[in-house]
Amino acid sequence: MVRVRFAPSPTGYLHIGNIRTALFNYLFARKEGGTFILRIEDTDKERCRPEYQEAALEDLSWMEIQWDEGPYEQSKRLDIYQKYISKLIEEGKAYPCYVTEEEIEEIRRIAHLERKPPRFDNRGRFFTKEEIEKRKARGIKPTVRFKIENPQLTMHDLIRGEVSFNLDEMVGDFVIQRSDGIPTFHLAVCVDDGLMEITHVIRGEDHLSNTPKHILLLQAMGFKPPQYGHLSLIHGPGGEPLSKRLESVSVREFRRRGYLPQALANYIALLGWAPGDNCEIFSWDKLQKAFDLKQVNKSASNYDPKKLDWVNSEHIKAMGEQAYLKVACTFLKENNFNIDDTMKLEKALLLFKRDIHTLGELVDVLTFLEAEAEYERKLEEEFKKKTDLYRILTNPSAQRVTASTSSTITLLNSEGEQLYKELVEKVGKDTGMKGKDIFLPWRMSLTRKSHGTELKRIFEILRRKDLQRRFTFVSKLSSGQL
Ligand code: GLU
Repeated sequence: MVRVRFAPSPTGYLHIGNIRTALFNYLFARKEGGTFILRIEDTDKERCRPEYQEAALEDLSWMEIQWDEGPYEQSKRLDIYQKYISKLIEEGKAYPCYVTEEEIEEIRRIAHLERKPPRFDNRGRFFTKEEIEKRKARGIKPTVRFKIENPQLTMHDLIRGEVSFNLDEMVGDFVIQRSDGIPTFHLAVCVDDGLMEITHVIRGEDHLSNTPKHILLLQAMGFKPPQYGHLSLIHGPGGEPLSKRLESVSVREFRRRGYLPQALANYIALLGWAPGDNCEIFSWDKLQKAFDLKQVNKSASNYDPKKLDWVNSEHIKAMGEQAYLKVACTFLKENNFNIDDTMKLEKALLLFKRDIHTLGELVDVLTFLEAEAEYERKLEEEFKKKTDLYRILTNPSAQRVTASTSSTITLLNSEGEQLYKELVEKVGKDTGMKGKDIFLPWRMSLTRKSHGTELKRIFEILRRKDLQRRFTFVSKLSSGQL
């Protein structure tokens, strides 16, 4: 029976790397009919914060990565870890180590000078009784170190194949309990993986060098080590380490920018997983059926925001109209974008469904839906600031266009595209202008922007009386009559 776990440390918000680990574990468990466990690794009191823990649960739920067991919190399991530490000492597999922090620093300094890895020379293992007593009398509190007896180790990694280690060269005896009594990450992970009967550990490549320690420790405590699979790290778009920009790739940030959870899961799954058949767009349901750990490869992957945008836009296009309207309206509300006229809003939302990459883009493209008073207030503000909008609309030819439009529109009865066509023709005749000379002042008058969707579409959404009000307002404002 497959049992896997996601074990975040709440020291920051979950980012694309964490969530890929969570996702691959979750998908693997679903595929195998196994159990997905959530474990919070919060023994580092200085760096862990409860708000990050809460955020992690919320982000996982938003992504529909639902855990079957947990969340277990390591900070509540300290007595369990203590039991295992004592037992390891009793059995001679670990020992209280009275080497001081200053001595360790010195070992590091010398190794650095000799350009060697900072390996601990196990000196604390061989201290005499007298030496230990002397150090105790100096008030030195011991750490507990695990003895490395079998430093050569080869394991089969589920993703990377055979990997060999020589711990003797790498680390030496390592700390399993700090001098303040708190177990280290290594100890807590191994006790929990053992007790929780974890069968597969899928985690980032940054943990690969920890794995031989974990295997030895698990064996020493009488547990059967799980199988390990290490995912290659994700790099930034230019190949730079992602750690430089974790804020911008947090799940929260993606949510804030209007990515759909299932699109984000789809994109993240492709960071390492290569589905055989060239298909790249997967609904949440399809992803759960299609994912196969055997197709996860060890080549490094780069986070590509453009591809994520594309995947998200494909998911938006594939959504049913009602479902799309629901998520879009919820998103807009969360972003304090309130439009009272629901009919108008829904019509506009559907018009843009095929154009947008993220829901966040809606906030920008829909500003033309603001209530008239609000719209006018903002337009006037821009005039006061003498922005581009001011410059374009106070140009004499633009003034002629808006004046002509505002008087012509009162003579017409049509709406929508028909009104648009009639106006283009009549204003063209009246002013002798055409093309951009008409369209730019119109676009600026109706949307306060110089770029955007086709004007025709805006005419389909705004009613004639609103259009009339905008053109009249702009015409008066730009000619100094207001
Ligand atoms: N708590 C560790 C981390 O956040 C994960 C440990 C593991 O997966 O074994 O990196």
